Amino acid sequence: MTQVLESDLDAFRASFPGHVITAPEGAAYNSARSLWNGCFDHYPAVIARCFGPADVAAAIAFARQQGLEISVRGGGHSFSGVSAADGSLMIDLSQLREVIVDPVARRASCGGGATGADLDAACQEHGLAVTSGTVSHTGVAGLTLGGGFGWLSRTMGLSIDNLAAAEVVLADGRCVRASEEDHPDLFWALRGGGGNFGVVTKFEYRLQPIGPEVHVALFFWSLDRSVEALRLCRDASVDLPRGASSIIAGGLSAPPAPFVPEQYHLAPGNALIVAGFSSAEQHKRLIDPIRAALPPLFEFVTPMPYTALQQMLDDSAPWGIHAYDKSLYLDDLSNEAIDVVAKHLPHKNSPMSFMPIFPMGGAYRDVEDSATAFGGSRTARFNFDIAAIAPNAELLAADRAWARALWDALRPHANESAGYVNLMSEYEEDRIRSTYGPAKYDRLARIKADYDPDNVFHLNANIKPAPTG
Ligand SMILES: Cc1cc2nc3c(=O)[nH]c(=O)nc-3n(C[C@H](O)[C@H](O)[C@H](O)COP(=O)(O)OP(=O)(O)OC[C@H]3O[C@@H](n4cnc5c(N)ncnc54)[C@H](O)[C@@H]3O)c2cc1C
Repeated sequence: MTQVLESDLDAFRASFPGHVITAPEGAAYNSARSLWNGCFDHYPAVIARCFGPADVAAAIAFARQQGLEISVRGGGHSFSGVSAADGSLMIDLSQLREVIVDPVARRASCGGGATGADLDAACQEHGLAVTSGTVSHTGVAGLTLGGGFGWLSRTMGLSIDNLAAAEVVLADGRCVRASEEDHPDLFWALRGGGGNFGVVTKFEYRLQPIGPEVHVALFFWSLDRSVEALRLCRDASVDLPRGASSIIAGGLSAPPAPFVPEQYHLAPGNALIVAGFSSAEQHKRLIDPIRAALPPLFEFVTPMPYTALQQMLDDSAPWGIHAYDKSLYLDDLSNEAIDVVAKHLPHKNSPMSFMPIFPMGGAYRDVEDSATAFGGSRTARFNFDIAAIAPNAELLAADRAWARALWDALRPHANESAGYVNLMSEYEEDRIRSTYGPAKYDRLARIKADYDPDNVFHLNANIKPAPTG
């Protein structure tokens, strides 16, 4: 591991416009290096807390001069734990959280360390929103750079489909704007290619009017009715209008929430959550047939603020929890695939593990597959997320095996992509290539060679620079 001389560190500390944090600082250092996924306990050599692009450029230059690996922390929520690394220089963007909304142009400019909650709150002040994740403490940076699914994907597409521009600090320290007009190749790569191409200090999104009130329905069925329930969830989800969306929560253990009758607390089952962004009447028309087709064990039907919908699942994945994730895209959800899921769900061990299935359609499928670098096909109708989540390492080990077995069993029913880069704990090289497919991967590798030929940004779902010449 590269050692940094105290004298070099002192010189960096004196000239760096942001904050330099190192191990002797104890609590500040431990808090800055901590990640959402409690499986990881990494000790960076230096943490460079950045407040703007000039700080990021200075941190990159120091790391390169010292031969330190660079880790980049946005919201710190990667399943793989790569945003901190032992002995690295960690670029800490946690303070870059400012969101500025232009309600007339319907645009938001958002710092590279903002969370979904930061973005939602600022946009909702003007009755506007953009697709972001379903857990609001997740960082918008990692989420956007990999694609970005959320409740609004059916209405407005992925986060990247609404990205108008990005401010990026490159490996050589230059700060550039990437958009359809400026560095269009880089802009294409940023929309799905992850953190491979530079450090994004600002995202600029197009917004649409949403809320402030939205409509939510959650139906829960017991696990012994998995086959019927999952078939119903599938049928109810595929034809939803663009003003609504759903998540199928396979194998969910009923939370001990006030709306859940006490006798069902922690009971395993399957849930369908339908979010409606139009009128109460339209929502009722959508959900009444679901209830009638298979009466649920319990339900929760209510209007709520859009920001509350965005935070509804926050407690399912608290900071510091142990997590392992695998995902798959299915072009269709056949009865055979449902049988596989129904067979495996009872074998999870942790009450927190479950399998969120994101049905995809509407605006998500409007976008040409080649228009962005997104590593999932636009024809897929379902994104399966097998989420092993546990309060400790022992329970996680059991559910890691459960997640792998379920993934293997579903593989024959999935399309050729190895899954969504943002829902991956392990980045085997062949899996990254298969996620993007050869044509996209090769294009990404050529762009990587142009913008980061030395693979300075490699602590990520890494795209290797294409050989030049
Ligand atoms: C509880 C939970 C819920 C989730 N729900 C969803 C969901 O609904 N929809 C969805 O699409 N995904 C979801 N995800 C996946 C999520 O998109 C990824 O975990 C994402 O990587 C998180 O981004 P982050 O900035 O918090 O992570 P980090 O760990 O900070 O970063 C992730 C990767 O991006 C790089 N990176 C971070 N910031 C920058 C930057 N500013 N510039 C360049 N590179 C950067 C990092 O180096 C790292 O490689 C969820 C994840 C969790 C843990």
